[in-house]
Order: sequence, then structure tokens, then C-alpha cells
Amino acid sequence: MPKFACRDVGVDCGWEAEAETMDELLNMIMHHAKHDHGMEEIPPELFEKVKKAIKE
Ligand SMILES: [Zn+2]
Repeated sequence: MPKFACRDVGVDCGWEAEAETMDELLNMIMHHAKHDHGMEEIPPELFEKVKKAIKE
């Protein structure tokens, strides 16, 4: 299952998530970024880092 932790991209945050699919995980990450980090959208370079940090 794909997994992601905010600290893997250098963010000081203890949030981590895992989901059934990559799409579902990316949705969870975008929701978290918006609600907990105040990002309306994830900037493209951060989004690339996020994708690289996801562990299957
Ligand atoms: Zn976070």
C-alpha cells in the first residue's frame, strides 16, 4: 500500500497516511496540505517531492 509521511519532504509535521491506491493517497495528501498547512494548491516542485517520497 502506498504510504506517505510529511516529514519525508522536510516538513515539521507528524502526519502520515496510507491508502489503497496512489490516487487515494494523493487526494488525502492534498486535503491535508490544504487544511493543516494552509496550501490551496501544492506547488509543482513540492508535488514532485511528495510523489518521490511515497513508499509503495
Ligand atoms: Zn503535514
